[in-house]
Amino acid sequence: MTTITVEHVSKKFEIRDNENVQAVDDVSLKVSEGGSIAIIGPSGCGKTTLLRMIAGLESPDSGRVLYNDEPIHQMPKEERGIGMVFQNYALMPQWDSEDNIGFFLRLRKREQEIPERVSQISKITGFGIEKLMGKFPRQLSGGEKQRVAIARAFARDLKLLLFDEPFANLDAKLRQQARIEARRLLNKYPVTTIYVTHDQQEAELMSDRLVLMKEGQVIQVGSYKSLYDAPANIFVAEFIGVPTINLFEGIVRDGRWYGDDFGGFVLPMPVADGKEITLGIRPEHMTLNGDIQATVKSAMPYFAERFTLLEVTTGQNLWEVQAPENAPFREGDTISVTFNADRRLYFDTRTGESLT
Ligand code: ADP
Ligand code: MG
Repeated sequence: MTTITVEHVSKKFEIRDNENVQAVDDVSLKVSEGGSIAIIGPSGCGKTTLLRMIAGLESPDSGRVLYNDEPIHQMPKEERGIGMVFQNYALMPQWDSEDNIGFFLRLRKREQEIPERVSQISKITGFGIEKLMGKFPRQLSGGEKQRVAIARAFARDLKLLLFDEPFANLDAKLRQQARIEARRLLNKYPVTTIYVTHDQQEAELMSDRLVLMKEGQVIQVGSYKSLYDAPANIFVAEFIGVPTINLFEGIVRDGRWYGDDFGGFVLPMPVADGKEITLGIRPEHMTLNGDIQATVKSAMPYFAERFTLLEVTTGQNLWEVQAPENAPFREGDTISVTFNADRRLYFDTRTGESLT
């Protein structure tokens, strides 16, 4: 198996004459043998470009990618052992499933191993790919095509698995099922894995560690829980967590935070008077009982998650509170709320950086 090291990698694209976009900007990271990371971040932040450089499909302007200790561009293609699964499947249309899955084994004159591999993958995932064998990609549904693509990634001697938004084209139910099947395969064949997605739940399921990117740069690395509990800045706080965190601008007086409509919260760190600070609090970190009076604008039931999300106002601010399922609130009701003290996050309003 393989340890992947990315050292100060950058990549620029020219989009028009003299107009460049810095797709990846000085990224360094390491995935140890058998480990997994998920690269997440908004569309256009450089996830695919980074993954393509790790795969050796794109060469960096500066920096390098090492497989164990060897730079990828010095390794012969047939020794790289990279399995890739993309959003658009990338199956050969003129080949049936068996030919698509068996491509790499056939290249190595080991086609006799194909039926055994297919049957193993079927068994582990619980999905009968055998029944797709004689069919061509045009005869398969999106979910079936993606299963063939995943089986193809595993049907070879693998050193590294790369996924780029593999399930983004599937509907919600199928996506959930496909994630679980892929998770089972990874548990059975622990391979170094890099998983690109814009979906934080998927990232959490498929990896040990999240790498959150913005505008080509790595902003924070850690477990889902560490990014959720201790975001490095406002961008991370807003990206991680569903429903989204509430933010309130305010100012410091005598070591306390004051907003437009409420405040007096004692800050857990020393901050100079007059400093502008943004308070962050997640809708699930509030108690329906307290000093903050808010007016209900709407109540939205989240049946599957078993809560009701209340949209409320205080003065000019519109924010959200998570209430118990079947909470009897309606538009125009007044509620009183506490922001749980140990869950309040504070950010420098000007830089966005966390103070906690
Ligand atoms: P993501 O996968 O996170 O959505 P990408 O890596 O695809 O982001 O793109 C990062 C940035 O680089 C975007 O601004 C995108 O438009 C640009 N980009 C990516 N590939 C090319 C290319 N081949 N030519 C020009 N610009 C590109
Ligand atoms: Mg992409």
